[in-house]
Amino acid sequence: MQTIMGVLITHNHIDHIRGLELLIRKNSLPAFTTQKIWESILTPRKKISPDCIHKISIKQKFHFAGFDIEAFPVCHDAPETIGFYICAGNKKITIVTDLGHICQTTAPYIKAANLLVIESNYDEQMLANGKYPHYLKARIQSDHGHLGNHQTSAFLADIISDNLNYVCLAHLSKNNNSPEIVLQTLQQTFSERGIILNSQQQISILNRNKPTDMICLIE
Ligand SMILES: [Zn+2]
Ligand SMILES: [Zn+2]
Repeated sequence: MQTIMGVLITHNHIDHIRGLELLIRKNSLPAFTTQKIWESILTPRKKISPDCIHKISIKQKFHFAGFDIEAFPVCHDAPETIGFYICAGNKKITIVTDLGHICQTTAPYIKAANLLVIESNYDEQMLANGKYPHYLKARIQSDHGHLGNHQTSAFLADIISDNLNYVCLAHLSKNNNSPEIVLQTLQQTFSERGIILNSQQQISILNRNKPTDMICLIE
């Protein structure tokens, strides 16, 4: 916990902000998001010290903890949702979860990454056959919901280049996905497209219950 220097907030959905108040208060951490997202998070019951609240603007770089950070918009059904593009020297990290599709504004930030954290939220078959009510299935599959395994795999197959060294597949649904199915879908898509990873490229699945191991971008 001592190594955390700040918090970047993408949107107000509860799976992203449940522990926010406690995390910030206990560790006096600065937290960054847009005015609109702060407005959707802060309620009279949420006690976040004004000192910790930092307002940022979409597509305007800010400097924090040695990084140049830029928020970019993504399509999702919250009052506003952003991804983060983080630069340190010539290394670029893009973090993008919770998006129904990858629009023209979002795509360049993903394509520029050396390390990409992107969602692969649901297996299309599992969601269709699962127990969720119709309205929830429709919401998840919509253009403002989440990326399914085939969507993410196809997009990665389109954009993969030697610059993209690490891909972390994240935000897997607990009920409609599994790490095995995500990898299977990706491997199948890549093999159909004749894509072979080079020896520097790694793809991993982020565990929803465990912190991710450190990834070192600089040799
Ligand atoms: Zn969300
Ligand atoms: Zn989410």
